[in-house]
Amino acid sequence: MSDIRQPLIDDFLEEMNKIINDNKNRIVKHAKKNPDELEDLPKSVENKIMSLYENLMDDLAEQLVEKANDELNQDNKSGGWEDALFTNTVLVGIYYSTQTMRDNFHKIHSAQVARQITNDAIKELPEDSTKKEIDTAIEDAHNEAVDNAVESSKSSIESLTVSEVGFSYYLLAKAETFTRGLNHYRWRTQGDSRVRPTHASKDGTIRKWGVGEEVGESFGCRCYSEFVTAEEVAEAGL
Ligand SMILES: [Zn+2]
Repeated sequence: MSDIRQPLIDDFLEEMNKIINDNKNRIVKHAKKNPDELEDLPKSVENKIMSLYENLMDDLAEQLVEKANDELNQDNKSGGWEDALFTNTVLVGIYYSTQTMRDNFHKIHSAQVARQITNDAIKELPEDSTKKEIDTAIEDAHNEAVDNAVESSKSSIESLTVSEVGFSYYLLAKAETFTRGLNHYRWRTQGDSRVRPTHASKDGTIRKWGVGEEVGESFGCRCYSEFVTAEEVAEAGL
């Protein structure tokens, strides 16, 4: 299975950036306008991003299930449980990722923080600043806060997505191996420069589940397992 995650994540981040940039003036105005009355990020922006993210996770789940079914159908085995497994783990991923994202946005849109950003911006200015200079400084400070929140959301989403989807695949592969009465798998890496050396050395080797570090088990690992037949296991002398 080649990595189907990255292209989807890239598309998502691009779309999200577009929504943020299209709405940035509105977000910044909202944040600095009247901090004491602020409650939330404009709901329409937050909702757009959330539904975009949920679509991303749905697409991932769908593609993963399709790939799993292809593999199962090759030897006329079919489950159904794999759908449930993916749906569950992916939903957990959606939940935690959207929570993280909301938290990041709320950090800059709570009245208290918005006021703090405004106060800090003013504090830095010389006493004889003009009204225009003060307004510009406040606007810049809020712009920067929005950028930082977007950046930190992006990296949270990316690492949570990679880790949740990877973990789903790990559970599926392991469960499926046992369902077939097998105990082994072939370790595969993504074959790029980000693969950690200790995993690169395992690429292509046949290994037993439950012995030592398992494929896809450690945080951020993008490696995956391939099914191996009983014959292949015997040929490898295992
Ligand atoms: Zn790895």
